[in-house]
Amino acid sequence: MSACGCSGSGLRPVDEAIAALMDFAPPAPPTVCVDLEEALGRILAEDIHSPIDLPLWDNSAMDGYALRSADMGPTGARLKIAGCIAAGDAAQVELQPGQAMRIFTGAPLPPGADSVIAQEDCEVDGDWLQVPVVEHGSHVRCRGEELCVGDALLSAGKKLRAQDLGLMASVGLDRVKVFRPLRVCLLSSGDELREPGESLAPGQIYNANRFSVGALLRGWGVEVHDYGVLADTLAASRDALSLAASEWDVLITSGGVSVGDRDYLKQAIRELGELHLWKLKMQPGKPLAFGSIAGKPWIGLPGNPAAALVTALVVARPFLWRAQGRSVVDTLPVTLPAGFDWPTANSRRQYLRARLELGGDGVACICLHPQQGSAMLRAASWADGLAVVEAGRTLHAGEPLPFLSFSELGA
Ligand code: AMP
Ligand code: MG
Repeated sequence: MSACGCSGSGLRPVDEAIAALMDFAPPAPPTVCVDLEEALGRILAEDIHSPIDLPLWDNSAMDGYALRSADMGPTGARLKIAGCIAAGDAAQVELQPGQAMRIFTGAPLPPGADSVIAQEDCEVDGDWLQVPVVEHGSHVRCRGEELCVGDALLSAGKKLRAQDLGLMASVGLDRVKVFRPLRVCLLSSGDELREPGESLAPGQIYNANRFSVGALLRGWGVEVHDYGVLADTLAASRDALSLAASEWDVLITSGGVSVGDRDYLKQAIRELGELHLWKLKMQPGKPLAFGSIAGKPWIGLPGNPAAALVTALVVARPFLWRAQGRSVVDTLPVTLPAGFDWPTANSRRQYLRARLELGGDGVACICLHPQQGSAMLRAASWADGLAVVEAGRTLHAGEPLPFLSFSELGA
């Protein structure tokens, strides 16, 4: 086997390649404290425990009347309405036997009360309330029933979502320790590339990967340092990569890792550092390369736009998520019936751009876009995820197939 882990035309199985990449994931970035308002999408760097009980006191789950269940007779009770407590009031007056108290949702239960009846379930007659039998504890949210002081709320390594911020706010936390964003340098390799908005000379194309891969990275919470287009020369490749390695945590390029005479990136990496891996047993995405310069990891995505997107999602994503400090980087595919035949086995695992559609039987099935070429982004834009057909597998419509949704992959 060669130093890059592939002998001759040998291709690395995808899972093995991802595991190999993970061994090179740098430690999580340093931590910073941020206000809750700025914490959305950040990676939590500490375990969070509740500093308070939740609810903090027994309170009403309904607009209605607080009462004592001991007052119930066989058919209910007639109770004197002794006052009113709204949300925000402190309940200081004790409820006496034979009394009820008007109460609103979220208001603290008065001392002595143990139950609430909803206003629509009782009759009011002036100062008197007629209630059917009310069970002890009805419509009461008890102190600590959701959480008690010290309960574990969130674990370090979690990407914070809206509901996580709400949960922290509900126990009074206003600042939180997160990892500072991973800083990734993005380079697009290729003399043919021009930016959207520019005019094209013969032979030139628009730079798609800068936008698709850049957007994926930003969506994952990465700080992107875009070095623009890298010229197809060994000197330019060496200069750009060594500068990037001196400044940023991880280097990501697209293009220039295939077998063409103008694909200089692997050579530059070999001269400056080490090439750990090249060529994966996947389609699209075979030319993916991985190496390091001065301890900084480099991921060389293929140039073809669909291949760049798929390898960024499948291979670079778990590596970057781990490097961000995320604890969970594996994604769960769902298994659903294929809505297509796959009659010819392929030697590489296929990541097909697909989406779910409802079949005649009302069951969702996986449908493919007809344009699966590795240069074609249109299918990825149409798709909601990737159908995964293992190497060597043929398939009839209706057979179960794993589907990785783009939302699960953060795309
Ligand atoms: P390469 O691996 O550099 O030979 O690139 C493979 C194919 O992808 C070629 O057709 C390139 O023109 C194309 N390509 C490379 N980079 C990009 C990019 N950033 N945007 C769109 N197409 C690209
Ligand atoms: Mg190129």
